[in-house]
Amino acid sequence: MPLPPSKANGYEATPLPLPDMPPPPLRPFQKLAKKQRALEILSRLKVMYPEAPCSLDYTSPVQLMVATMLAAQCTDARVNKVTPALFQRFPDAAALAGADLLALEELVRSTGFYRNKAKNIQAAAHKIVTAFDGEVPKTMAELTTLPGVARKTANVVLAHAFGIHEGVTVDTHVKRISALLGLTKQTEPVKVEQDLMKLLPQKDWENWSIRLVYHGRAVCTARTPQCLKCELLDVCPGAAKVRQTAAKAAKARDDRKAKASVGEM
Ligand code: SF4
Repeated sequence: MPLPPSKANGYEATPLPLPDMPPPPLRPFQKLAKKQRALEILSRLKVMYPEAPCSLDYTSPVQLMVATMLAAQCTDARVNKVTPALFQRFPDAAALAGADLLALEELVRSTGFYRNKAKNIQAAAHKIVTAFDGEVPKTMAELTTLPGVARKTANVVLAHAFGIHEGVTVDTHVKRISALLGLTKQTEPVKVEQDLMKLLPQKDWENWSIRLVYHGRAVCTARTPQCLKCELLDVCPGAAKVRQTAAKAAKARDDRKAKASVGEM
């Protein structure tokens, strides 16, 4: 039986089948109102991916903020390789603010866009020290005043470091899959976020994002989504063509069987 996503297995696990349900291709499409569909998907995602931890390694809010900034255009696994040495040398906001910029750049180089990332990390740390007494602020309004910190990073920090849900983290997986699931027609992350906030319970805003990221890695991949194995197939408007093709193939199979049984008579 496949393992649920976890740090140990790199979040690559295939989701578990839902109890008491036929395999996805055999389920009839359920035409649900948007909010009802969002809640149905949310409850299935919770069964498919029971654990929803943040996949970045950190031991303090400032470390989580830095790791999230480094994760832009980079994998979490790569970031987790870089941060142990980074945080050993510069463990808190004061150390990061006073860091030698070239040394900082060198430590984060492999995450890409390293000059910009190092500059923003240092500037954000400096502002945390000078404007917030060395503590990462706990509101969206304050966090997004930090250089290099936009809503996505702020949402991750607020949810995982402080248990505060001010928004939905929208990355490429969340944007793409939420659109396939018919929950938004928007393309700008901020507008996608607003749509999702209207549909989902506030306490689930962050775990929705994490679970969709798992799903985007394990099943609904950008290049070749595995719709016929997907537990969301019967509630996913974006898979209409796949369902039609599967229905045609099933009908052709049934017709062949019927013809063969007539021939045997
Ligand atoms: S049915 Fe297909 S498109 Fe829809 S969420 Fe699943 S894998 Fe993605």
